[in-house]
Amino acid sequence: MSDTRLREEICRYGRSLFERGLTPGSSGNISFRLDDGGWLVTPTNASLGFLDPARLSRLDGAGQLISGDKPTKEIPLHTALYQTRGSARAVVHLHSTNAVALTMLPEIDPRAALPPMTPYYLMRAGQTALIPYYRPGDPAVADAIRGLAGKYSSVLLANHGPVVAGDSLEAAVFATEELEETAKLYLILRNLNPRYLSPAQVADLVTTFGLQLPLSGNHDDHDHT
Ligand SMILES: [Zn+2]
Repeated sequence: MSDTRLREEICRYGRSLFERGLTPGSSGNISFRLDDGGWLVTPTNASLGFLDPARLSRLDGAGQLISGDKPTKEIPLHTALYQTRGSARAVVHLHSTNAVALTMLPEIDPRAALPPMTPYYLMRAGQTALIPYYRPGDPAVADAIRGLAGKYSSVLLANHGPVVAGDSLEAAVFATEELEETAKLYLILRNLNPRYLSPAQVADLVTTFGLQLPLSGNHDDHDHT
């Protein structure tokens, strides 16, 4: 994909996420890892709904700004995922309401924040880790993400929001959307004793689609009902 096209795609996905209310104000950020090891990143204090392709932050492989506006201060969230997931080409971070709400519930398993509710959640987002609260800008949040050792492509930051990696920009955006919608389903169904996918149904998805789930085969270790 050309540099121009890639910049337009980042802005187009950003606008789409913003216009559907998936991240308010100037919250949320998107990054893309380039072939030369550098990054294109959304700027600090920029609304995802009103991004200018020419003003995206262009960073070199060392994270230094080459051109564009000053990058988001949430870069450590992104780099921690890139460092531990070699296949990651894009990372999306939002302050999406349902995913944020999920992080505050007492029963959430930090190794599998959502139960296996739908096949597309597992196929796009995999399982989701929950890491504790850190104040914005605290570099320790990156250590916590690195502590997951790259096993999770989707991570929830407590009282803050999701961070999701994908092997393309589209994959990262779609996985983030799937995570948000699954969190919404969980909140709708919580305390209604819903039927989730059974361990056999999850095992069938893992085999058929070659899914890499951190807790694959251990779904009955923890009971979400
Ligand atoms: Zn944030």
